[in-house]
Amino acid sequence: MDDQPIITLENLTKSYGDKQVLKGIDLTVMPGKIIGYIGPNGAGKTTTVKILIGMLGHYEGRATVAGFDVRTHSLEVKRRIGYVPESAAIYDTLTPLEYLRFLGGLYGVDEGVIVSRAKEMLSLFGLEKNLDDRMSSFSKGMRQKVLIVAGMIHNPDVLFMDEPLSGLDANSAVTVKEIFARLAEIGKTIFYCSHIMDVVERVCDRIIILSNGQIAADGSFEELRQMNKEESLERIFTQLTSEGEQDVVASQFIQALSEREERVD
Ligand code: ATP
Repeated sequence: MDDQPIITLENLTKSYGDKQVLKGIDLTVMPGKIIGYIGPNGAGKTTTVKILIGMLGHYEGRATVAGFDVRTHSLEVKRRIGYVPESAAIYDTLTPLEYLRFLGGLYGVDEGVIVSRAKEMLSLFGLEKNLDDRMSSFSKGMRQKVLIVAGMIHNPDVLFMDEPLSGLDANSAVTVKEIFARLAEIGKTIFYCSHIMDVVERVCDRIIILSNGQIAADGSFEELRQMNKEESLERIFTQLTSEGEQDVVASQFIQALSEREERVD
């Protein structure tokens, strides 16, 4: 199975009304890799992920996960994937253990396995004292940790993550990055959407830059660096995706503020 792609996209095209958001994306991902899927706001990252996890229909082209066509075998796909959204409505009145038991049950995971996995993973995030607290009392970071554990509770082959480090303190972020590396070592695939360039630069085996619904660059950080003759991913990203000079935009922003003040005076 390891020589078969875990994700493929063939001419993936998606429009919302008249607006074409994905413009024919072709992509092949092999298992055991950490993929950084990055791009400016509105580039189409979440749209791609939502198609891959079966949350979004009405697209053209083809998407497969673990050899299954997402359109025709969505249950087979869902069994093999986990999804960690940037933020989500979490069942506030439940405790993390109740929530994870509920979710694991939906995936058909044995109750004993769920509870031991949940306790172990939550403890690794320092939530061992909060297992039975209602999540309504949780901070943003604590909720994010529960979402990350929830994405992994059924031991999926592929983890789709949308800015998973959002709200995490530095220690927890290091833990998550370490978990990514270990998961990849055991053959899991991480599909990681983020705007945190230095993390993507350090953590991802392969970086795909999406711009305006098309792939603008695809390679390891080293390959992108050599191709674009820039030292940091942030600079490469800006070079490939920016429409204007950032310093000019900043000046115009400040000017807009002072003009307003002059009018108020
Ligand atoms: P961000 O970095 O801001 O999260 P993104 O790359 O994930 O952006 P998407 O959320 O995929 O971008 O959105 C791509 C484009 O599709 C945007 O222009 C957005 O306005 C549009 N879009 C997304 N969802 C919908 C929707 N349900 N209806 C109409 N337009 C949508």
